[in-house]
Amino acid sequence: MKITEHLKKADQTLFSFEILPPLKGQSLKELLEGIAPLMEFKPPFVDVTYHREEYIYKKHPNGLLEKISTKKRPGTVGICAAIMNRFQVDAVPHLLCGGFNKEETENALIDLNFIGVENVLALRGDAPKTEGKFIPEPDGHHFASELVEQIVRMNNGKYLHEETETSFHTDFCVGVAGYPEKHFEAPSMKFDLKRLKEKVEKGAEYIVTQMFFDNQKYFEFVDQVREAGITVPIIPGIKPITTVGQITMLPRTFFLDLPDPLMDELEKCKTNAEVREVGIEWAIKQCKELVKAEVPSLHFYTMSKAGTTYAIAKEIF
Ligand code: FAD
Repeated sequence: MKITEHLKKADQTLFSFEILPPLKGQSLKELLEGIAPLMEFKPPFVDVTYHREEYIYKKHPNGLLEKISTKKRPGTVGICAAIMNRFQVDAVPHLLCGGFNKEETENALIDLNFIGVENVLALRGDAPKTEGKFIPEPDGHHFASELVEQIVRMNNGKYLHEETETSFHTDFCVGVAGYPEKHFEAPSMKFDLKRLKEKVEKGAEYIVTQMFFDNQKYFEFVDQVREAGITVPIIPGIKPITTVGQITMLPRTFFLDLPDPLMDELEKCKTNAEVREVGIEWAIKQCKELVKAEVPSLHFYTMSKAGTTYAIAKEIF
């Protein structure tokens, strides 16, 4: 079922979450068993992230370094199939511009359609860590809005390099990303909102936000999005802080602020266990307020570690 239908049907805030494919060489069994307890909270959908290639350097005996492109977390499509089979929930694969040309995107969408996927989250993706800026593939998309456009064209039976419309139409519901604290490359919030509006005008039917730790940022974002004339549902992304390292890593990586009252508590923590406890308490407070505000779903970034999300969800749902 489409995410938009799940949201329409719901008479209260839903529970949903995102997982990462395991590192190459690890089994899926552990991941599926790990998320099984979360099914208690009846998620109508589970997102599966996509990870493009990264570059690694292999040293040869002659001392020369070879640059190799490799995917560390392949398997997004297979995991979607496994989740749908095992848990009878909808799986939402993330689909990137980065690393794909249009033909490869089309073929990936055909695969997804054939395994019964009805929703995709269309994203640009970031540059590989060793590259400074996002560079699209030759004949690939520059921005998520172009990817949305391609998916919608397929929904209308228009494939690449085909003169005529096909009789078989895909029917993907497309979600896109939104940034309550602005996307880091956008020169201003107003600019970023215009780009978000383009994604919706091209056919995106819902928005999932980047994580945030200050609900006020989400509420202000929703107001600004509505003022910009965007009416689609905006699902808040929730990420509890669980380790000492994340206190600096999350703001640096995702360009977001940790509010002072949270920082005051985190500064007292010496161990990961203490941070996790504060992180869970904070996320519970955030979630309670968001539920009160009748957000469509609480969408958890689990990083495939379901225990923390379980501890929060059991206080909310
Ligand atoms: P876009 O919407 O294309 O925007 C990127 C930047 O370009 C923005 O600054 C925007 O303002 C600007 N822009 C857009 N259109 C134009 C235009 N026409 N002209 C000029 N500027 C423009 N990454 C992964 O690799 N895998 C994942 O699975 C993944 N999942 C995510 C899930 C969520 C909910 C979120 C919020 C992010 C996720 N990301 C993921 C990260 C995402 O790929 C990065 O944040 C990326 O930098 C931007 O992606 P986007 O789709 O928002 O890009």
